[in-house]
Amino acid sequence: MRGDTADIRHDWTHEEVAAIYGLPLTELVFRAQAVHRQHFAPDELEACVLLNIKSGGCPEDCAYCSQSARHDGPQKKGTPMLTVAEVRTAAREAKQRGATRFCMGAAFRAPKQRQLEQAAEMIVAVREEGLETCMTLGMLDEAQARFLKQAGLDYYNHNIDTSPEYYGEIITTRSMEDRLTTLRAVAAAGINICCGGIIGLGETRADRISMLHLLATLPAHPASVPINRLVAIEGTPLANATPPEPFEMVRTIATARILMPRSRIRLAAGRREMSDEAQALCYLAGANSIFLGERLLTTGNPAPDDDEKLFHRLGMKLQVHTEAN
Ligand code: SF4
Repeated sequence: MRGDTADIRHDWTHEEVAAIYGLPLTELVFRAQAVHRQHFAPDELEACVLLNIKSGGCPEDCAYCSQSARHDGPQKKGTPMLTVAEVRTAAREAKQRGATRFCMGAAFRAPKQRQLEQAAEMIVAVREEGLETCMTLGMLDEAQARFLKQAGLDYYNHNIDTSPEYYGEIITTRSMEDRLTTLRAVAAAGINICCGGIIGLGETRADRISMLHLLATLPAHPASVPINRLVAIEGTPLANATPPEPFEMVRTIATARILMPRSRIRLAAGRREMSDEAQALCYLAGANSIFLGERLLTTGNPAPDDDEKLFHRLGMKLQVHTEAN
């Protein structure tokens, strides 16, 4: 990573964030690209692979999610946790595909001790395969976060999803403050934070600005900031949501890049539903991390061949080194 920390700010005002977000698109992308080049190679993408280690049957009611037991989505019913051997095999395949980070997600409100112990074994196995580890297991207290840190966890994903103002429209079974409490516990344990949100939940531009403001004014910027485009799933309350305007994705990513210059901004879920040109604009705006592989937690992702062709056409390459340690 290039650059120093002199340009890292945590005191962005709401007005400043709104002014950046609302710049003419050409100016916004130009500024984002200039910031991007101070810290990262402009042609390099971090590649992560995501594995659902325990799907469905979740007691939470996130309106976008097919794993909630409260909706009629395809993963309403839960499945048991994968075995460590299954996770190890998937990690090995991810490494062969060119990934440097292996992200494991479980549909929990909060993990129980036995589940944490299984997760710890998975962390050890994935690290043995030579990959950075990331987990998303729901809410954690400080002791649980320390337990995962001791197991070797590099990153913990816990998205804020949307603005504090709109949060209650999307999730009623927990609050934004619950979310921030877990983020504090993870940070206190010394685990890198992966935290971002979703575009296309029916939020307004003001909500997107407010979400970015919250992310950029956390005590430490998340090391990874996934920006997801909603993939509407049958049976969920957002099944008929209007797809977001592609330029709002570009604006969100460019603003995130300017506000959080050293963070990896991930163009996460929803890439398959975007045109090659819209994806390319997102990379130009400062996105430099992606998920590889045909499957995310519950939704599809571009086929590896399609990604390879696109990155070749764009002259972009996958990053080969890791940053966590
Ligand atoms: S997003 Fe996570 S916490 Fe929310 S319902 Fe889905 S699995 Fe549960």
